[in-house]
Amino acid sequence: MAERKKLIAGNWKMNGLKASVAEIDAVLAGAGTVPDAVELAICPPVTLAGLAAERLCGSVVSLGGQDCHAQGSGAHTGDVSAEMWVDLGARYVIVGHSERRAGHCETDAAVAAKAAACFRAGVTPIICVGESLSERDEGRTLAVVSAQLSASVPAAAGRFVIAYEPVWAIGTGRTPTLAQVAEVHAALRSGLAGRFGAAVEGVRLLYGGSVKPENAGELMRVRHVDGALVGGASLRSADFLAIAAACG
Ligand code: PEP
Repeated sequence: MAERKKLIAGNWKMNGLKASVAEIDAVLAGAGTVPDAVELAICPPVTLAGLAAERLCGSVVSLGGQDCHAQGSGAHTGDVSAEMWVDLGARYVIVGHSERRAGHCETDAAVAAKAAACFRAGVTPIICVGESLSERDEGRTLAVVSAQLSASVPAAAGRFVIAYEPVWAIGTGRTPTLAQVAEVHAALRSGLAGRFGAAVEGVRLLYGGSVKPENAGELMRVRHVDGALVGGASLRSADFLAIAAACG
């Protein structure tokens, strides 16, 4: 089986003012305690991206964006292109987060176009998939997640990361059972292998949804879980570092 370095990516969402950059400094100060087999990334809001880049670029902690536009440049007020993230030194861009799918009506096709933009620009998309509570209750989790995977990962795929984030677990304190996580991650891994073959053995499958220091260790030991996309707990450097430490 391919060796996959675990990735713990913090999604700050629409949180943080200039003073919050102190949390980035604290993550950098504590990064030495993180096991070598774990990579850290922080995805700040766009207003903090420049300050974050000054600190993170050249460090052991990667910079990530929370979204990008499919076009490289142009008349798209308020948007940020994948090329702009690369220009800033970002290594990752989250695409297709459920909050964007729901709040900005992003379809799988739109997510695939954003992922393709990341490939074009040379930055790694973290492509998010996940079922709603009603879809889980109706027993449709694997069908929904597999369909999202097929339609959100472009055919001509470059390097990418998948994040499985059950919508009902995001920001709620609820998490799926370890068996449920294992089931979805195994389906994702086999779906990718069926479509792309051995070329995607190195693709990391992150789990996201109410990850915290208390549950990170057990979640990260589930087969085919190669890291975490962390929302709320990533805003506190101590918690973010504790989650990373629990992966060792
Ligand atoms: C997320 O939004 O990507 C997320 C996982 O959030 P939280 O950790 O707060 O559930």
